Amino acid sequence: MDFSMKRRTLLKVIVLGDGGVGKTSLMNQYVYNKFNPQYKATIGADFVTKELQIDDKLIWDTAGQERFQSLGSAFYRGADCCVLVFDVNIQRSFEMLSNWHEEFLKQVQRLITSHDSADPSDPESFPFVVIGNKIDLDCGNSRMVPVEKARDWCASRGNIPYFETSAKEGYNVDEAFLCVAKTAVACE
Ligand code: GDP
Ligand code: MG
Repeated sequence: MDFSMKRRTLLKVIVLGDGGVGKTSLMNQYVYNKFNPQYKATIGADFVTKELQIDDKLIWDTAGQERFQSLGSAFYRGADCCVLVFDVNIQRSFEMLSNWHEEFLKQVQRLITSHDSADPSDPESFPFVVIGNKIDLDCGNSRMVPVEKARDWCASRGNIPYFETSAKEGYNVDEAFLCVAKTAVACE
């Protein structure tokens, strides 16, 4: 695929997953190459853009409403790709992927059927990317989710691409987001 032919300037990428899995850290690592070891629940929506060769990205992080699943439909409107993040060391954050996946599809479906918006996204073929984060902790034998399990989950949902990352060490973060960009552009 020839990305240089694309005229699109901004992609909207939604990053979802349980609180504390590293969504904000992944964004900060990707956009600023920075990592902050302190945990601050995101207050207000985070919008960051990073200019890449392929495109500009607009990344929408959850604003700390993970517990309430109360993200409004404006949050989802016009999304080009959805990134689902879990922590490979926390089983529950992996089990919750299905909820986040369903929640996203439900919201996209609602946007399509409502009259106020003509969102072109097709929920059947909507592009997702899954990230298993915090693999730097794995050397302490703390991994709870085997890579095969994560890959199976992705395979059974239309072959969603799967990446394992460390936002702390910057490992595989660029690769994951490059895939996000390609997946989003390929689906236009
Ligand atoms: P969010 O709630 O999903 O946005 O999670 P944050 O990005 O705020 O991260 C939650 C906590 O996990 C923070 O203390 C981060 O410093 C830490 N963290 C995030 N990513 C990693 C990682 O890859 N490795 C390690 N060891 N810690 C991480
Ligand atoms: Mg956050």
